[in-house]
Amino acid sequence: MNMRVRFAPSPTGNLHIGTLRTALFNWFLVRHNNGACILRMEDTDAERSQPEFEKNITDALKWLGLSMDESPDLGGEYGPYRQSERVHLYKAASQQLIDKGDAYPCFCTTEDLGKEREEAIRKGEPYVYSRKCLALSQSEIDEKKKRGVAHTIRFKMPDHTLHFTDIIRGDISFDLALNADFVIIKSDGSASYNFAVVVDDHEMAITHVIRGEDHISNTPRQLALFEALSYTPPKFAHLPMILAPDRTKLSKRFGATSVLDYHEKGYLPQTIINYLALLGWSPPDDTEVMSLSDIVRLFSLDRVSKSGAIFDVEKLKWMNGQHIRLLDQNALFEAVTPFMTSETQASLSRYSENEMKEIIMSVKDNLDVLLDINQYLEMYGLSKEGYQEKMHQVDFNWKEEEKQVIGLFLEAIAKADEHFSPESMGHILEEIAQNVGLKKGKLFKPIRLACTGYTSGPQLLTCLSILGKKVLLERLQFLLENREK
Ligand code: GLU
Repeated sequence: MNMRVRFAPSPTGNLHIGTLRTALFNWFLVRHNNGACILRMEDTDAERSQPEFEKNITDALKWLGLSMDESPDLGGEYGPYRQSERVHLYKAASQQLIDKGDAYPCFCTTEDLGKEREEAIRKGEPYVYSRKCLALSQSEIDEKKKRGVAHTIRFKMPDHTLHFTDIIRGDISFDLALNADFVIIKSDGSASYNFAVVVDDHEMAITHVIRGEDHISNTPRQLALFEALSYTPPKFAHLPMILAPDRTKLSKRFGATSVLDYHEKGYLPQTIINYLALLGWSPPDDTEVMSLSDIVRLFSLDRVSKSGAIFDVEKLKWMNGQHIRLLDQNALFEAVTPFMTSETQASLSRYSENEMKEIIMSVKDNLDVLLDINQYLEMYGLSKEGYQEKMHQVDFNWKEEEKQVIGLFLEAIAKADEHFSPESMGHILEEIAQNVGLKKGKLFKPIRLACTGYTSGPQLLTCLSILGKKVLLERLQFLLENREK
């Protein structure tokens, strides 16, 4: 049978990092095995589920390029793919359980249940539902239903011990007797999470359930339902939790924000995928910077660890820089352009598209996130006045040899051909270095400062050649005149 996995988010909030990591591990596994990936919206909580959250989830998946094979938008053989549209299936399955004596209506009110719970607390016992309504006769049930008394349907928990093998965690056993008879159909007729999931995983022919470790406590209840409904259960793999650097639960403060926020901050989709892939999984050779196709080729659940994985924004930033370095000129241009502010764009309007591409390539190694682009392009956009103003703030107290270097550079530029290239700039600097008896590297600092107004920045030779003869002459002349005053 072909592998079928599902990504089953609840559209009760934006897609965040933890949920995305679950989606990714499903996706890597199923693409590695040429199976099908199903997107199922778990919107059983009618009040908290919102169309805007469903949109946020699908937009984030689209941004990351994670294609699905079946989904609410695409449809498919096993649809519908929103739980709110599958109520008839849950009803039918709950009737099957009632008919077999494995489920029963419960008319207890919240107040009744509260009393039971208080009583258990008073006795210092763990609370388990008393099964009061299991004792109702058919005529009592019929009479209450006729009077329209609100009721839920509870699953009658078996009392044996249940074993299962988790792909990541190995053999696990649970004493089902410790679990209460839980509600499978709520009083408004909708299914509870544990019930809907079982019916859907069966009806959608899911072969592998890969989800966060926080769901492990639901697994015995779900397996008991699989058993009672005579369904073959899927294989389970529970992924380690993602933790903050202090090993506490990942919170907003440590980066547990919406995936699309990372897009807005200038992270590349390939970085998010690569970084999250390594939260709990490692490739056989421990490489860190990987493409999506490398990950899919190497992915297996055998290499998923049991212990929690730390989410470290600094590492994520570093990795984004690495992925930016891998972009070619056109890809980088396309990626950064939407991150340029209108001020940056306006200040650079004198440059052609080709020059812009070169400019952007010259700052590639400086970028951690795409939003950094504005700060590094500033020096290319400085107007004559902007440069002069900047130089008035600079400490002119340069060493004699630095002044000499700038003077010689001005002379060389004045004599040079109109057409500048990084190579011709390199030759000019080499000659000056020989002339003054300094290493070429020693010239970079004064020349960079004199020509750009900044002490650090893009690759210098490219930067000088792009600024061009006119601008460099203008700037250096201004500088020398003002220094002498
Ligand atoms: N809707 C659940 C969640 O968002 C999915 C749980 C599961 O994968 O079974 O956590």
